[in-house]
Amino acid sequence: MNESPHEVLSRVFGFSEFRPNQAAIVSELLENRDVFAVMPTGGGKSLCYQLPAHMLEGLCVVISPLISLMKDQVDAAKANGLDAEFLNSSLSPKERYRVFQALDNHQLDLLYVSPERFAMPEFIATLKQARVSFFAIDEAHCISEWGHDFRPDYLSLANIVKSFPKSAVAAFTATATHQVADDIVNKLSLRQPHLTRASFDRPNLFYQVVPKENLDLQILHFLSERQGESGIIYRTTRKSVESTAAFLQEQGVQAVAYHAGLTPVQRKTNQDKFNRDEVNVVVATIAFGMGIDKSNVRFVLHGDLPKNMEGYYQETGRAGRDGEPAHCQLFFSRGDMVRIRYFIEQTQDPRERKMAEQQLARMVRFAEANACRRKTILGYFGETYPKDNCKTCDICMGEIERVDATIAAQKIMSAIHRSGQKFGAVHIADIVVGAKTQKIRQMAHDQLKTYGAGKDQDKKYWRRVIDDLLAQECLIQNQEHYSALELTPKGQQILLGKKHFEVVRQKAVKEASFASLTGDYSEKLFGQLRTHRQQLAQQEGIPPFVVFSDRTLREMALYFPDTPEQMSGISGIGAAKLEKYGDTFMTLIELFKFAHPEEVQKRALLKVPLKISKNGKKSGKTTMKTMDLAQQGLSMEAIAKIRGLAEGTISQHIENVLEEGQGAALDVDQLLETSKRLQVEELFNQHSGKSMKFIIEASGDTVTYAELRLVRAFMQAI
Ligand code: ADP
Ligand code: ZN
Repeated sequence: MNESPHEVLSRVFGFSEFRPNQAAIVSELLENRDVFAVMPTGGGKSLCYQLPAHMLEGLCVVISPLISLMKDQVDAAKANGLDAEFLNSSLSPKERYRVFQALDNHQLDLLYVSPERFAMPEFIATLKQARVSFFAIDEAHCISEWGHDFRPDYLSLANIVKSFPKSAVAAFTATATHQVADDIVNKLSLRQPHLTRASFDRPNLFYQVVPKENLDLQILHFLSERQGESGIIYRTTRKSVESTAAFLQEQGVQAVAYHAGLTPVQRKTNQDKFNRDEVNVVVATIAFGMGIDKSNVRFVLHGDLPKNMEGYYQETGRAGRDGEPAHCQLFFSRGDMVRIRYFIEQTQDPRERKMAEQQLARMVRFAEANACRRKTILGYFGETYPKDNCKTCDICMGEIERVDATIAAQKIMSAIHRSGQKFGAVHIADIVVGAKTQKIRQMAHDQLKTYGAGKDQDKKYWRRVIDDLLAQECLIQNQEHYSALELTPKGQQILLGKKHFEVVRQKAVKEASFASLTGDYSEKLFGQLRTHRQQLAQQEGIPPFVVFSDRTLREMALYFPDTPEQMSGISGIGAAKLEKYGDTFMTLIELFKFAHPEEVQKRALLKVPLKISKNGKKSGKTTMKTMDLAQQGLSMEAIAKIRGLAEGTISQHIENVLEEGQGAALDVDQLLETSKRLQVEELFNQHSGKSMKFIIEASGDTVTYAELRLVRAFMQAI
């Protein structure tokens, strides 16, 4: 039976609504048109090609650069009941043979392959036999030399359009720049592609920047409030990764390390442990992430300042792919900036150096800005965030207070001024707190009037004041002279008491108001569901998030579904998953309800918002209208005209009614001319078992989908 994309979305994928860009992409692909889509990580790209792949005759070939991801993606597609396989070097000859067999027999919806395959003429020849409906190119920016991940392998994809002129091509990327976008469209020779640019906003991510003080302790504190949750901690160097991981392990946190210095086997083991929820925390350099598709990452912490916004956004984007709330926290200190600058200075190419400088400056501005983080990030990607308060960043949620810090500022600037504007932040802070260092004795700085003027506070406090002064451009660091601090004209005015100096301090962030998207679910039940999910995943050798996402489990822990209808109303449960996992989860929920009546009572009033019945109701009303007109004796064509709908839609309404056994009053020969009806019946008999598309072609396009569906519905109703 022919379904609408929306019905497939609900039945197969278990979602009630398309995201706006998804609906458009799906319909273009169903019409066999090229697509170029810019979507952020977690934007829901896979559905854009998996859904049409399932609906269309023929095969969708997905080109993906990461062998490590293919298996998970194929497992996820299979879990939804799609016929998917992958081909890459990790397969044994026997497995490969099986995949080629499936390909020869036209049994696949989806085939995932690496780009190198397209350089192999024999593979192209095989595909030509396979009836490719369309190609989906993942990480399409890898074809562009302008991009940051250029892969020579991708250049072989430039021939796709020539080799398969009848198949549509859909290219996906999360890289936003126009230069790269143009390059992709040109290199792939896309034919007037449908262009979409999804918003880069990820409303479920909370952004926060906190001053970095004692990083390891700060991280530990953060983790102590998020036990049992998965997260990534990024650090810049191997050494810092190792030391933070070791510290956390000593403190009893199950954490693994990941960096380029580990052997490939160690890296893979650690990544798998994280993927399979065997450990909650991975401490990693930015080498980690490309191969990660885990949807239930609940937090991403940056222990050090990232080099640029693109990288930062991509890394934080790995949090919360399941759409559930997730937390992104950056620990910021100006010291990191000095370190990055040191590396930038080693760059030979002056253009590159300048660009790196600018990118760093943007990053620092983001960290120090007193403006909504979300607005700043989206602004960077050329998007205007429309709201005044995003409600999901520290600036928007924290109560901000302005504090007069003129006296503190004067103490620092006086120390700078009196010591001749020749020293860096560490030494200046030493002077103000009255430290007894060798350098102070040597320089006789213990004789200065400001020596020890700030004894009442510690060094960290004074470093912070210096950071604030730098941020507000009262001081600058002289790059030519060991980053010595110097007063700007604005700083001088404050020192002379002609101007006030104010700092913005954040009170504690009230994150509690960042309510979970799934409301007041039972944590107890959620815990049990998680454990159960992990056991199932282990038995099948797939990652837990392929079984169900956190969101799905949380909805179960909110609604306590105990019938198949209710189960299928839960987000992320389509027909295949319902059949495979429905019973076992319902049993668990049943037992839980029995053991915890108090948890049930609390939620007695909640009902699963039924996806299917909701749609049913919508189409119910419109079906009624069609029926009214049919009962007045009108033809399908006339009803479509009057209602301003496609004939296909009208035939679908009739089909629904017949299927429910409600169509006794309907007469096919009234809806369709008798000669047409006879022709269609003849075609069905002649080509029994063939697809509608085939039959239409066989008829020389003299019949339409709508006509076929209508007649078939009557034939089946008898
Ligand atoms: P990307 O590949 O773009 O990073 P994915 O395809 O992995 O993103 O999708 C991210 C998450 O969003 C997945 O958990 C997926 O199940 C979910 N998702 C996709 N489309 C929808 C939708 N229409 N409604 C609800 N969840 C969706
Ligand atoms: Zn905000």
